[in-house]
Amino acid sequence: MSDVKYKRIVLKLSGEALAGDKGFGINPPVIKKIAEEIKEVYKLGIQVAIVVGGGNMWRGVAGAKMGMERTQADYVGMLATIMNGLSLQDNLESIDVPTRVQTSIEMRQIAEPYIRRKAVRHLQKNRVVIFAGGTGNPYFSTDTTAALRAAEVHADAILMAKNGVDGIYSADPNEDPNAVKYDELTQMDIINKNLNVMDTTASSLSMDNNIPLVVFNLNENGNIKKVVQGEKIGTTVRG
Ligand code: UDP
Repeated sequence: MSDVKYKRIVLKLSGEALAGDKGFGINPPVIKKIAEEIKEVYKLGIQVAIVVGGGNMWRGVAGAKMGMERTQADYVGMLATIMNGLSLQDNLESIDVPTRVQTSIEMRQIAEPYIRRKAVRHLQKNRVVIFAGGTGNPYFSTDTTAALRAAEVHADAILMAKNGVDGIYSADPNEDPNAVKYDELTQMDIINKNLNVMDTTASSLSMDNNIPLVVFNLNENGNIKKVVQGEKIGTTVRG
């Protein structure tokens, strides 16, 4: 535990991260690999909370575009995050990482309800806590959930794992050859420069609570561990 930079983290995993190349659903080798990376961090004694997204299955905005009532569509999205959360739990437990899933919407048969004090207790006991169901409210995102839960459990940092992108760029590096990568930014820079990192609700919440955010590439081996050990990879965003 001596040489780590962050002792308690909230790792944000988008649904996309679980889908792999197919871009949809859960890709078994991909989720297994992510579980192994998380185990490496868990073995260091880091307290790990995870917020899972659901975009690999459903996004409320897309449902609304197809004519669905937005709140209803968002509840479908929240349920997608719970499916991802349970799948991640299964993968972690199968490699002997103790976990608890807590859902923002009660589903007592399959997971604990979200109770902040209980979540903190699990973290102290070195159980990986998976927060599923987003905030439990429509019109929000799992990025906002990550910022919210990080503030609630007093996390040292939010680790935002990206698929194939190694940080925050001035423009989309796949489209603009002149795009430059930032090593450090502030949340205000993100809002002012209109950088596409997280939605503004999530940005302003992280800014208000002064929680550093590290954006990094999940697809390179050992990157989660590198971030918690303070290696300078990705982009660090200060509050
Ligand atoms: N969602 C919601 N409230 C929340 C979090 C998520 O309504 O607090 C819904 C919303 O419809 C969203 C979907 O769940 O589109 C999946 O979450 P998100 O888009 O954040 O997943 P990600 O992009 O990280 O995979």
